[in-house]
Amino acid sequence: MTYETKVAILGAGVTGMCAAHYLSELLGRESVLVLEAAQSPGGTTRTECIDGFRLDWGPNGFLDREPLTLKWVDDLGLTDSLVRANEAAAKRFILKNGNLVEIKPPPAFMFSPLLSVAGRMRLLCEPFVPQKSNDNPETIWNFAARRIGHEAADTLVSCMVSGVFGGDAKQLSLEHCFPRMAAMEKEYGTLFKALMSKRRANKKTSAMGPSGVLTTFSEGIGFLPAHVAEQLDPRVLFGNGARRITRENKEYRVETSNGDTVNAQYVIVAMPTYAAADALADFDADVAKVLAQIPYADIAVICTGYSREQIAHDVNGFGFLVPRSEGKRMLGCLWTSSIFPHEAPDGSVLLRTMIGGATDPDAVRLSDAQLLDIVHREVHPLMRVNGAPKFTRIFRHVRGIPQYLLNHGQNLEAIAAAEQRNPGLYFAGNAYRGVGLNDCVVSAVRAVERLAADDK
Ligand SMILES: Cc1cc2nc3c(=O)[nH]c(=O)nc-3n(C[C@H](O)[C@H](O)[C@H](O)COP(=O)(O)OP(=O)(O)OC[C@H]3O[C@@H](n4cnc5c(N)ncnc54)[C@H](O)[C@@H]3O)c2cc1C
Repeated sequence: MTYETKVAILGAGVTGMCAAHYLSELLGRESVLVLEAAQSPGGTTRTECIDGFRLDWGPNGFLDREPLTLKWVDDLGLTDSLVRANEAAAKRFILKNGNLVEIKPPPAFMFSPLLSVAGRMRLLCEPFVPQKSNDNPETIWNFAARRIGHEAADTLVSCMVSGVFGGDAKQLSLEHCFPRMAAMEKEYGTLFKALMSKRRANKKTSAMGPSGVLTTFSEGIGFLPAHVAEQLDPRVLFGNGARRITRENKEYRVETSNGDTVNAQYVIVAMPTYAAADALADFDADVAKVLAQIPYADIAVICTGYSREQIAHDVNGFGFLVPRSEGKRMLGCLWTSSIFPHEAPDGSVLLRTMIGGATDPDAVRLSDAQLLDIVHREVHPLMRVNGAPKFTRIFRHVRGIPQYLLNHGQNLEAIAAAEQRNPGLYFAGNAYRGVGLNDCVVSAVRAVERLAADDK
């Protein structure tokens, strides 16, 4: 079958759905067609509801600090369905010498056993560390070690990087993963000065956690893309991925996995870069090569449900992260039913354990029994769990989270150049300027704005 459309959007994850929503508002629904390789929408952002548990495949929410995400939710009429994380779940922990230690904000942090006395002294020297004097790309770990010392880089920063990116702090680019952190040093000279200034501007800001409150929907975070896909029906074609993109007479031609052809004036590529690389290989080999070299980390999410009485440890908190030096396989564990009590039946506890990431690439290929065995050996003794979980569900994200390495800036330049030489082709999604849901929304909105400007 041949479809004629003004805009073809490739991928029905959060990015594709956000772009599709705004473009159908702008140009009319009939002008937008979404091609999705999977049988359902959402990409990594999906929620299953089983036995009263809401089970998020990947993300469990977004931080409520990005105006464009909140605006999108509002434009969809969904603001009343938002659920903010329970305040009681603000406490975060790090595993240190086999014990869960709460991360306290300063000045209490200085008395916490998370760092040795020497490590804490080194941290206190941060205001006296000179500013970086060149523009050479720097890894997150090198930045942290330079500013706050090796021990804090290993204990505090590396595990946060595995928690957010499934990544290796020694490989990832500070400038592209934490642009605000890089900017803080540039603007204020030291992180201490930057945090003091941030605190003065907003007294509620925590120096230790991310700014913003983790937010989901009463139906789970997967509701967001699923709702948009339902609204756009039948303009989203499922199980019909983009296989080959070419251009003829100023029009793009997308051949699909089902043998269909989509002719479009504009194409928004909102699928993972490895899929985009395959589809673009014949049309623009240079950008295909760049896209193909952006690596992704594999990660497994193991959801386990218990009755409240089975868990002796206090679960009033967000969960914990695990530095690699602790010699554990798990990257961390979220206490989901404390963060979002509506995601588990009354009297139940839902935990989400992350295993894998860039530092343990084989873990995602372990069997269900092996992954559950890790939860049993590593999580259960810490949480003082009595007996086996009543409920289990495992999500494997093979090539789940893109990794921004030190050459990411060059990749972004090459991708922008490809957009320039191929008018009407736009790249959006988590592989470019941030992996969080907020970043995906920003990326989608920017693609829509560029397309709208080009269409004038
Ligand atoms: C375990 C995990 C936990 C996370 N936790 C959080 C969190 O708590 N908060 C947060 O903000 N972010 C989190 N993230 C990151 C966030 O979920 C993702 O970055 C975001 O969902 C990516 O959205 P996207 O639409 O850009 O890409 P994707 O969700 O990857 O969507 C791309 C879509 O393209 C489709 N596709 C693939 N090939 C083709 C093709 N050939 N043709 C057409 N379609 C194709 C895919 O099937 C998919 O539906 C997490 C990620 C993971 C993996």
